Amino acid sequence: MTRFEPNLRIPGPTALPPSVREAGGRQMVNHRGEEFKALLLRVSEGMKPFFGTQHDVIMLTCAGTGALEAAIVNTLSPGDAVLAVPIGAFGDRFAKIAEVYGAEVTRLDVEWGQAAVPAAVRAAAAEIPGLKAVLLTHNETSTGVTNDIPALAAAVRDAAPDALILVDAISALGAVPFAMDAWGLDLVVTGSQKAWMSAPGMAMAAVGPRAWAAGETATMPRFYLDLKRHRDTAAAGETPWTPAVAVMYQVDEGLRLMQAEGEGVFARHAAAQAMTRAGLRALGFELLAADDVASKTVTAAWIPDGLDWKAFNGSLKRQGLVLAGGQGKLKGKIFRLGHLGSVTTDDILAAIGALEVAALEQGLDVQPGAAVAAAQRALIEATTRVAVPA
Ligand SMILES: *Cc1c(COP(=O)(O)O)cnc(C)c1O
Repeated sequence: MTRFEPNLRIPGPTALPPSVREAGGRQMVNHRGEEFKALLLRVSEGMKPFFGTQHDVIMLTCAGTGALEAAIVNTLSPGDAVLAVPIGAFGDRFAKIAEVYGAEVTRLDVEWGQAAVPAAVRAAAAEIPGLKAVLLTHNETSTGVTNDIPALAAAVRDAAPDALILVDAISALGAVPFAMDAWGLDLVVTGSQKAWMSAPGMAMAAVGPRAWAAGETATMPRFYLDLKRHRDTAAAGETPWTPAVAVMYQVDEGLRLMQAEGEGVFARHAAAQAMTRAGLRALGFELLAADDVASKTVTAAWIPDGLDWKAFNGSLKRQGLVLAGGQGKLKGKIFRLGHLGSVTTDDILAAIGALEVAALEQGLDVQPGAAVAAAQRALIEATTRVAVPA
């Protein structure tokens, strides 16, 4: 163990900055009192610039999946025609939730590792009579691919102007620029443990006017996740049920840090991504996502034939580096490195250094220092936008 704390490089939960950890340890307050009212207002308002919305941001006490469920049950009725566009495990989950609640789901499956193609989405949407909603994933955490949400949303609007656009933005919102209103999205969700540098336990749903209107006639059953009830109680500065107060303290502090960093948040994630990709490639790993669709928050790489992953990962763990494996059909085939939330360029240099040591220990054909050097060059390029000689 070379670190006092592990280098937790999974795509959520993410490591918490010291001030966020301390915030989570603060004493409770009356969740029906003035302090909580101010906190709820500050956090939901503070979220809006990151969503790129003027609409309501609802704070839910649940995992991200709860917010996906809220998106479905608050806007749809059993039998509604829905187009799901899964590009990985999380898109698949979004589709399944709609199916479980009785929607008529058509799937436009995209090969895992690829992004959705706007023309294909336009064609699929045009073919479904009475299309009620389209389910999109912003950043597919299982493959490390980011969809072009504005292009996909425009394609949907073109083919089916009345269809709602519901977006799972759980794992990149906050880390990259996003513009819900300008892109014409109706409902967008995220979760506290991803880019928001907080513990798991809260999810946020931004709800536009078309989604609220759909909710008036939507008949899927809902109680705990009834967004209208949340909106109405939020107007009085409360949540309908006891909220995860400690997580809310953390999200509040995380937002304060992000507001102070400003645009630097996006630049930091972009640099971490570039360093990760350069470092992994220098070690000979093949990446799942092509450069033009690569996620800014998580990078997935194939485990090469012949690599003893258990031994390799054992070396990483001994060095304090914690990576994520593959999900669903990619289990055992890939590994994923998360670079979101409080990630620093130092964290990535350390991760690439540990991967390099593991590669050397496993007898891979690498030059000591080459991967770290590649990551350093990528860092300089990302921060100065000049090419660095190899
Ligand atoms: C993490 C994640 C989820 C699920 O969030 P939970 O909090 O685990 O329920 C859903 N979608 C995406 C894209 C995610 O990254």
